[in-house]
Amino acid sequence: MLRCFLLLFLTLLVRPCFAHEAHVHGHVQLTLALEEQSGEMSLFSAQANFLPFEYVPQTSEEITQALALQNKLAHPEELFVLSPEAVCNMQVKHLEGPAFTKQAGHHEEHGHEHGHGHEHANIHMEIAVSCEKPEKLRGLRTTLFETFPAIREIALEVVGPFGQRAAKLEAKDPSVTWQ
Ligand SMILES: [Zn+2]
Repeated sequence: MLRCFLLLFLTLLVRPCFAHEAHVHGHVQLTLALEEQSGEMSLFSAQANFLPFEYVPQTSEEITQALALQNKLAHPEELFVLSPEAVCNMQVKHLEGPAFTKQAGHHEEHGHEHGHGHEHANIHMEIAVSCEKPEKLRGLRTTLFETFPAIREIALEVVGPFGQRAAKLEAKDPSVTWQ
């Protein structure tokens, strides 16, 4: 919600905040919204970009894979490298998706059928971001592509004291600078 308020407040975006693009494998949406020193990064993605399944982990192998994923996502500063001069701190405050649902047998809660018997589900992560010197935040580099090879493209939106920027990141060019 914070992201929505920030986006609306800062840019009066017409587009509704939660109008995510369709579930597309390989595609990740990433938003960074900063207001002065604090803000939020939000990631929205098909679970298939992170794991070979899109349901609540059932087998011990799937449970192990899901736990490994959770451990990687718990260190957002390793996945998203912000300009060091900005002295930013990141902390995961919300992580949602069938991979992180403990009870088995609740597929319906997160996944949904697409008419041909294949279940799809998404992962949503919110990261609290604070920067001591936000005016020095000039760019972002991500290690998502090398960490999770199923990811092919990241649509990035950045809103902050420097204005609003949009960029497409790919494995061959996983960084962006905006000032
Ligand atoms: Zn899917």
